[in-house]
Order: sequence, then structure tokens, then C-alpha cells
Amino acid sequence: MSFLSIFSKQPKEQSKPNEAPAHWVKCQQCQSLMYFKEVEFLHQVCPKCDFHMRINATQRIELLCDEGSFVELDANLKATDPLKFVDKKSYKKRLIEANAKTGKNSSLISGEGKIEGIDVQLVCFDFAFMGGSLGSVEGERIVRAAHRALNKHQPLIIASASGGARMQESTYSLLQMSKTSAAIKRLSDAKIPYISILTDPTMGGVSASFASLGDIIMAEPGALIGFAGARVIKQTIGADLPEGFQRAEFLLEHGLIDMIVKRNDMKKTIADILGYFNIKSDVALISANEEFEAKPTDESAENFELKLKQ
Ligand SMILES: [Zn+2]
Repeated sequence: MSFLSIFSKQPKEQSKPNEAPAHWVKCQQCQSLMYFKEVEFLHQVCPKCDFHMRINATQRIELLCDEGSFVELDANLKATDPLKFVDKKSYKKRLIEANAKTGKNSSLISGEGKIEGIDVQLVCFDFAFMGGSLGSVEGERIVRAAHRALNKHQPLIIASASGGARMQESTYSLLQMSKTSAAIKRLSDAKIPYISILTDPTMGGVSASFASLGDIIMAEPGALIGFAGARVIKQTIGADLPEGFQRAEFLLEHGLIDMIVKRNDMKKTIADILGYFNIKSDVALISANEEFEAKPTDESAENFELKLKQ
């Protein structure tokens, strides 16, 4: 290498002034700067103050499901625009933008997977797609997941992260509240467990329907959960709101939710709860099969009889 070439060649991975912060994550709560891999390893939970940052539906599925077990279903359902709705932008344009941003057709991912070997129907909301809003497609996908849970006798788990009903679909969107609630009622009648996970934020029509109908309602620490926003309530009632209003801890204290579960304990907690409902995992089924195989099979019994005859 010549002396000049040292100066003429640029190092391949020369960091630009703006690149370095990309590898660092700033906690919204304690303002600490942390290396992104550390935060990624903890599923976007701050190691300094335990603040739970928002995660998308794919990250939620990775967190909850056994590796490679999740299969997405009904992904082909796409929202139409029955009202030809236009506010600052047309609804059609908003859908195209949301699709480009998330690569998805709706604000949730639904399908089936395994949690510590237990077959479940799982629905995870993605706040990045139009604020996780509940439209006709989302309602339909929840109902289909509930019906699969009913037919296959598998528990249903819904992790919500939503601003509420999708205003661009107006009444069509509001109808999803009763439609999903009716599907959850059918599960309840069949005594099939439904676990609702409330994450930051779970608001409006989502909190006022299926998200609050879980047999077990769990929330992540610090999650904002409510119907109308605090500012609207304050203006309506004309009084100051108590500290921590609409946060998971406040709701637990007032009996609206059953438990607060840290994100990194979520999978184990769900598996434990499903164990109480006597839902068997693959592991249990395998050991049951092994016991069965240890006993003489019909075939060996036939052979035994043949030997006797000989
Ligand atoms: Zn922090």
C-alpha cells in the first residue's frame, strides 16, 4: 500500500457525525442513554428505571411465542373505504401510508402459536398502524381468532395497544365493539379462557369492549389505559384528576384490572395461568404419549395371542 493510498481510501465503516446516536436509546422516563443492544435484549425495557417502551406487534409475538411457532392468519383481509372518508387526507391514502410504514394491512396481527408449548390463538395490536385503531378488518380478525379458539378449544390472548375506534370508518368501526364482545361471550359460554393484555396505550372503543372482557386482565407497568383522554375528562367534570390517573397501577388499585406483569415475565405468567385453567402443553402431551407407548400396544397383544396359538 502506497503512502498516498492511506489518505485516498476511506475506511469502509466510517461513522458520520449523525450515526452514533442511532446506536443509543434514550429512556423517556429517566433520560438515560443506553446502547441499543442492551435495550433490545430486554425487549425495550429500560434497565435503569424499568420503563416499558412501546413495541410493535412483531416484537410482541416474538416476546410471547415459542420460537418459530407463530403462523399469521387472515393477513389478506384489507380495509375498504365504505364512506369515502376524507379529513385532512383521504382514508385510502392513510391506509396506503400505514401499509408502507408497517408492511401490514391492518393494525393487528392475528394467528396461532405456542406459549411454552401451549397452543393459543393470539392477536397483537400495532400502534404504528393508524394508532392501533379498531376498524372493520381488525374486528373481523378478532372474531375469527375467537371462533378458531372456540372450534379448537384453545385459549385466546389479545395484546392491545390502541387509540380506540377508527374514526374514518365511523359506525362501521363502532359496530366492532359489539361484534368482538359477542364473540368473547361465546368463548365465555364455552368456558374457554381469554387473557387480555393491556399495553401502553389502550384507550377508547378498544378499552370499552374486548380489552376489558378478559377472564384475566393484565397490564404492563405504567401503561395508559382509559376511555376518554385525561384532558377531556378534566374539562368535562371541571376538577383536577388524581395523580397517576389512567395508569395501570391506578387501575389495579381500583379493581379494574387483575394484575400488572413486567414485560419480561409476561410469557411465563401466561403459561402459568393457562396451567391453572388445565390447558395442557405439548410437553405434557409428549410425556402422556410416552406413558401410553410403555404399555403393550394392540399390535403386540395380537402377536402375543399368535405366539400362544403356535
Ligand atoms: Zn429509564
